[in-house]
Amino acid sequence: MSAVLSTLGAMVDAAPLDVHALRSAVSGPVLVPGEPSFAEELEGFNRAHTHTPAVVVGATDAADVAAAVRFARDAGLPVRVLATGHGSHAAIGDGVVITTGRLDSVSVDADARTATVGGGASWASVVAAAAPHGLAPIAGSAPTVGVVGYLLGGGLGPFARSHGFSSDFVRSATVVTGTGDIVQASADADAELLWALRGGKGGLGVVVSITIDLVPMPELYGGNILFPTEAIAPVLRAWAALTTDAPPELSTSVAIVRFPPIEQLPPFLRGQTLLALRVAYPAAASEGERLIAPLRAVAPALADTVRPLRLDEVASIHNDPTDPGASTTTGAMLDLLDADAVEALLDVAGPGEELRLVAVELRHLGAATHEDVPAGSAVGGRGAGFTLALIGSLMQPGVEGEVAAATDAVLAALAPWISAETTINFAGAPVDAAWPADVRTHLDAVRRRVDPDGVFPYWPAGA
Ligand SMILES: Cc1cc2nc3c(=O)[nH]c(=O)nc-3n(C[C@H](O)[C@H](O)[C@H](O)COP(=O)(O)OP(=O)(O)OC[C@H]3O[C@@H](n4cnc5c(N)ncnc54)[C@H](O)[C@@H]3O)c2cc1C
Repeated sequence: MSAVLSTLGAMVDAAPLDVHALRSAVSGPVLVPGEPSFAEELEGFNRAHTHTPAVVVGATDAADVAAAVRFARDAGLPVRVLATGHGSHAAIGDGVVITTGRLDSVSVDADARTATVGGGASWASVVAAAAPHGLAPIAGSAPTVGVVGYLLGGGLGPFARSHGFSSDFVRSATVVTGTGDIVQASADADAELLWALRGGKGGLGVVVSITIDLVPMPELYGGNILFPTEAIAPVLRAWAALTTDAPPELSTSVAIVRFPPIEQLPPFLRGQTLLALRVAYPAAASEGERLIAPLRAVAPALADTVRPLRLDEVASIHNDPTDPGASTTTGAMLDLLDADAVEALLDVAGPGEELRLVAVELRHLGAATHEDVPAGSAVGGRGAGFTLALIGSLMQPGVEGEVAAATDAVLAALAPWISAETTINFAGAPVDAAWPADVRTHLDAVRRRVDPDGVFPYWPAGA
């Protein structure tokens, strides 16, 4: 008997899973532990966690998703979704995983200014499809992040202040519920489910496609500026001052980045602690240039890519990593960033400090992020002034403790400024504070309605 069959046999003995029936019901691959492509199917961007569910189903359409959900429900197994793996925060060790990478269609309706996107597509393909029409999605900073996972968490990208949470642009979705039914969520079809999908994140079904509004963007001035170690403190102070009266069109963020001493990096970055300033100004370049001139004046830059951008160059604003690796991200939101907060941040994360974090990032919010859509939405963190993201590399074995200690140290130093509420995409794992209490209660009611048997184990157990 082959290893595959013996593994399958052992599994079927342990729990009578009729994987053969599932295979005949779906077009995509159905894989169990021990099969050659099992591990590969479950690999994602974040390699910190190795997923070992009982079954993984590579969905090719809504019918595959529905069949996988019904199979799991009948077998009493939990269902989880894996798209790109950017949001992995724990290893999945049981149940059914539905991978959505094959649901990667993107179609743009230029007249309606919408894009309809498959449940597993990434932002890069939407940006590329919209750009030739002079249109842009309100995307995230990283081109490889999945559209649906990002939107379900709200989404705060380079255009946060000019346009708001990305979930505000969700118009409708096709969803497979916990009963395996394929339903529509829209203002006309199920407005409450649409409300929940705009930021409610998990436990709401599997989104097989989503339609978002695109925005015309005739001009875009943006990019990033890399400042040397000695300029970190003065630039950070100048940036905090700029955020106090920045116009709504200007979204900026900063990150104190500790580049590893590895040969793959150019010598000027290797082992250095630098400050990256990111700029997105979807308006006239001359005005954008004037607005950021005070920051450019603080110190000579090591690199400066801020210029008029084509719409398909939006990922160059943050230059987020696109290669898989092992990492952990913890986030929070800040009510405000006053001069004391800047000094507290410099004390704990400034260039003189030993800190086991690759990046300590602050994004300026406000303006459009404070405005909800007229129908309301579930997203948490509307009132916050900034996001804080603490990113640790886990590429070296045994550093988890140091990364956790560094994360705790930064959170403790900034505690007086941390908002009571956060937003799930930045929180990482589900936490109480990711939604206001009344929103959580309402979300739980929607989850019970679309998933009466609790097939999607999102809240409160997490994962
Ligand atoms: C490098 C990087 C950059 C990022 N930049 C931003 C940013 O600019 N702004 C921001 O707000 N967030 C950002 N994030 C956070 C990111 O939006 C979340 O981690 C998001 O959950 C990733 O979704 P995914 O589908 O890519 O990842 P996955 O790990 O595959 O999915 C994460 C979760 O999303 C849900 N999900 C995904 N697809 C579906 C589906 N079709 N149906 C139902 N549920 C689904 C599931 O709950 C799943 O567990 C970033 C993360 C990384 C690592």
